[in-house]
Amino acid sequence: MSRMRERRVDPGARLVHVGPGCLLKDVDGATQEHGLATVLGFVSETGVAGLTLGGGFGYLARRFGWAVDNLEEVEIVTADGRIRTASREGNEDLFWAIRGGGGNFGVITRFTFRVHEVGPIVTGGLIGWSAERADDVLEAYRELTTSAPPELTAAAMIRLAPPAPFVPKEWHLRPVAGILVCHSGRDAESDLAPLRAIGEPIFDLVGEKPYVLQQSMLDDMEPKGLHQYWKAEFLPDLPREYLPTFRDAALRVASPLSFSVIFHLEGALNEREDDDGAVGNRDARFISGFSGVWPPGGDGDEIVTSVREGWEQIRPFSTGGNYVNFQMAEDDATRTAEAYGERLERLGRIKAVYDPGNLFRMNRNILPAA
Ligand SMILES: Cc1cc2nc3c(=O)[nH]c(=O)nc-3n(C[C@H](O)[C@H](O)[C@H](O)COP(=O)(O)OP(=O)(O)OC[C@H]3O[C@@H](n4cnc5c(N)ncnc54)[C@H](O)[C@@H]3O)c2cc1C
Repeated sequence: MSRMRERRVDPGARLVHVGPGCLLKDVDGATQEHGLATVLGFVSETGVAGLTLGGGFGYLARRFGWAVDNLEEVEIVTADGRIRTASREGNEDLFWAIRGGGGNFGVITRFTFRVHEVGPIVTGGLIGWSAERADDVLEAYRELTTSAPPELTAAAMIRLAPPAPFVPKEWHLRPVAGILVCHSGRDAESDLAPLRAIGEPIFDLVGEKPYVLQQSMLDDMEPKGLHQYWKAEFLPDLPREYLPTFRDAALRVASPLSFSVIFHLEGALNEREDDDGAVGNRDARFISGFSGVWPPGGDGDEIVTSVREGWEQIRPFSTGGNYVNFQMAEDDATRTAEAYGERLERLGRIKAVYDPGNLFRMNRNILPAA
């Protein structure tokens, strides 16, 4: 669908109409011309369609919920070849299902999102410290997330420092603990004071910048064409006991391209009814996991093993749900069932109406109810 990249902003109605081939950068670029934005992910080269249909979170999720919470309408071609629109006012069941149910119900040919005033200048960036200080950094992160306003999103990371120009040479490929932030409100500097109080960072890239720059800041860390093996869990909170478990596993996962993260999600997505769209998981306040990454032709066995081991260690902290968009081909139907919980039964009934022959099955598949 990569040729269907139209995007049309309607600033008066606070809407953006998006073609299904758009990447995040296409939409953010268009909406930010009006000082507006909707919830999308952290890497600007990701597709809007897949990200949204599985739920979608990024720098603005704490303020405005899942990406799908901001969806107002879709145009969809269902398995019978009909073009339909679905919204809260028409084909409501289909609209409920696509808001989290992935590509199971048809091919979306237009998304219409609600947009909000954001930026265009935000305070954001990445601060990094030696991983020897990981305990201080993770504890400061935990404290920050207990008081952060919804305008502040922060993610903690452990990885080997990339050989990038912003990292002093002597730190290249050594373990670092970092915090990624984006503050889209006022008083950013005072809200970020607890991070600055950690002191003596190796690099500090946090400052005022256009939101579109913030949205593409991580692109270089995740270039296309690499092997990726991810495992992640939603967490209901961030207890102190989680931090050493995460630290130890993350240090084992660390390799030149692999990284481990804790994202703070708490906010608007917890405030809606659990049943508002198939995405659910409204008890999630954090998502944390391990991303094993290696170049084509490389041997990923050890990386995969370390990610699996780390994941086993964090599973006891999970909500029991998981994010469908972070599943891998190897994840079986049980994991998909855990992602949807009691919503799976309703999804199966809606699937039976719109795709009884399971035409759309190359996905985290939902079987039509008998
Ligand atoms: C580098 C990277 C960074 C990421 N960062 C984030 C993040 O910050 N936040 C987040 O929430 N997720 C993130 N993800 C996960 C991301 O949401 C999923 O990988 C998602 O599937 C990407 O969608 P896509 O459209 O790019 O991929 P595609 O492979 O094109 O689509 C994935 C699936 O979505 C369905 N689909 C796609 N288009 C349509 C359509 N038009 N109609 C119906 N079904 C369709 C299909 O089932 C398809 O197989 C990231 C992924 C990567 C690789």
